Amino acid sequence: MHQSICIDPLPTNCCAGGFCPGSRERDFYNLAVFFYGCNFDCIFCQNSSHKRIDSAPRIDEENFVNKAIENEKIFCICYFGGSPEPHLPFALKVSEKILESKSMRICWEWNGCGNEKLVRKAAELSFKSNGVVKFDLKAFDKNLSLALSGVTNERAYSNFRMIAEKFFDKREEPVLTATTLLVPEYIDKGEIENIAEFIAELNPEIPYSLLVFHPSFYMSDMPITPRKQVDECYQAARKYLKKVNVGNIHLL
Ligand code: SF4
Ligand code: SF4
Repeated sequence: MHQSICIDPLPTNCCAGGFCPGSRERDFYNLAVFFYGCNFDCIFCQNSSHKRIDSAPRIDEENFVNKAIENEKIFCICYFGGSPEPHLPFALKVSEKILESKSMRICWEWNGCGNEKLVRKAAELSFKSNGVVKFDLKAFDKNLSLALSGVTNERAYSNFRMIAEKFFDKREEPVLTATTLLVPEYIDKGEIENIAEFIAELNPEIPYSLLVFHPSFYMSDMPITPRKQVDECYQAARKYLKKVNVGNIHLL
């Protein structure tokens, strides 16, 4: 499987760090699993190194499981990338094997447009293990999503709804969080208001992070998100949701 693996000390720069007690653990580690490849093709991709699949390191199931189990200090696994959806059959299998031997939080950081059955299984693993499913909810408007990411992303919103309805109010610690990248001029307060309203209809306690954009990939000639846009988007999200924060604030 094409992936690179790092063992990072907690707290990491996890996008759910502000809401997850795991991020406040000391003397423990996060196994960060970067999958190459993605089912989106965003022109603002903030992790475009995932496209270099030919040069990606590989690891098989057995070695992966051993790596996670052998280190007693590993507290959580975060699958990200690229995006983990194309790799879910592998990731689900190894996660189930790991949990048979050891308690560990299983987390996903993704665009959310995976096969519904596999996404449900992934969320069940997070729910049982005290992990978190972190959706990067991109444009709400279908045409905007098509323009920015090359796909419409209704599946992300229907998967988010499915996980919120099935799991969110059944655990004290949040099992589900969302982020949105504030692409300058494109993801504006109107877009954020629509996304926040959608989340709030499911549960206004779901944590939501707005991420400041930095220029990258085909949008490397764009500015960092203007502060005015950040402030307007924050106010728009707070109209609906109780737990909103701004990530990458050091870029402003
Ligand atoms: S448990 Fe999950 S959400 Fe919490 S710090 Fe680790 S990877 Fe992030
Ligand atoms: S979903 Fe994320 S990793 Fe995939 S292309 Fe878009 S920004 Fe890049």
